[in-house]
Amino acid sequence: MTATAAVRVPFHDLRDLHALDGLQEELDAAVLRVTRSGRYLLGPELEAFEEEFARYCGAGHCVGVGSGLDALELTLRALGVGEGDEVIVPGHTFVATWLAVSATGARPVPVEPEADSYLIDPARVAAAITPRTRAVMPVHTYGHPVDLDALDAVTAPRGIAVVEDAAQAHGARHRGRRIGSRYAAAFSFYPGKNLGALGDAGAVVTSDAGLAERIRLLRNYGSRVKYRHEEQGTNSRLDEIQAAALRVKLTRLDAWNARRRAVAAAYAEGLAGLPGITVPGVRPWAEPVWHQYVVRCADRDRLRAALTDAGVENLVHYPVAVHRSPAYAGTAHGPLPLSERLAAEVLSLPMGPQLTAKDVETVISAVRDATESSHD
Ligand SMILES: *Cc1c(COP(=O)(O)O)cnc(C)c1O
Repeated sequence: MTATAAVRVPFHDLRDLHALDGLQEELDAAVLRVTRSGRYLLGPELEAFEEEFARYCGAGHCVGVGSGLDALELTLRALGVGEGDEVIVPGHTFVATWLAVSATGARPVPVEPEADSYLIDPARVAAAITPRTRAVMPVHTYGHPVDLDALDAVTAPRGIAVVEDAAQAHGARHRGRRIGSRYAAAFSFYPGKNLGALGDAGAVVTSDAGLAERIRLLRNYGSRVKYRHEEQGTNSRLDEIQAAALRVKLTRLDAWNARRRAVAAAYAEGLAGLPGITVPGVRPWAEPVWHQYVVRCADRDRLRAALTDAGVENLVHYPVAVHRSPAYAGTAHGPLPLSERLAAEVLSLPMGPQLTAKDVETVISAVRDATESSHD
């Protein structure tokens, strides 16, 4: 094993991404347009982006905010979630899903994933509901939509709100409809997301006009009219430079998601049937956007080392289950063995529209070599 194998396939280099399809020049022009405009917050770029992204999602409204975490938290606050409430969250997710709940004063109640997917299990959601449950936050993890029909059958009769964590699902479709067109969906535009800004940014997409208006108020000091503060809001605005960059990148999103799908299809074929590796499945009604391509492997750390030696960068999303992190030590929850097992077994392979056919082949051969040598 060499300590510093040369990287042959980077995990995700944003410079490679921006070099695609003349994007860099368009981004530079968009940024320059803003720097020279004299308008940096709550201006025409944000207004245009909000309209374009709402239309893209098939929803009535989009409200740009400072980050994906803020999009989640402000949606919960706008729904009136707070102290004494419970919000059901996945055990297997990025910490932000839980943090948004905690920030409102409510308690995150974790639920295990389905046995054969990475997604929250609607049947287990039903079992976790108490009289204090105010909302459920499904996460469309790695870009594969949660079964919203099955979830709806659990939440709708009880009047429980659904707030989608769509931070990894820009453009994904659930039974033909885009994520964001159904409830309230919080998106992150962190640079590495399928639709990424040049810094932090996020948005809430919804067709509920009242909810959108409330979030608009909260993101800007609780104020519609300058110096008239209707409630205790915050400062969380998607700035004009980010909005201008996002408008450019939105024009590439469908083509880039299609390229991700092609990479996923090549991986699925090239890695099928390898001993000790489980490739991700796709539900027949789902059109995922492959934010990450995540395999499961019981001997994950050995596979990681072999791939790194072969120059194939790889990451783990996420190596510690949220309830096991120090931030949530001491919080009450039932046993979460499936979430813990995923944290121990998941491995993310390089994914993105910048990958060449040769990159994909390099990744597949490296995984094949690693699994075959483990059975010598
Ligand atoms: C990225 C991400 C977030 C947080 O988004 P930020 O813009 O980084 O605040 C929330 N949830 C999930 C599932 C994410 O992947």
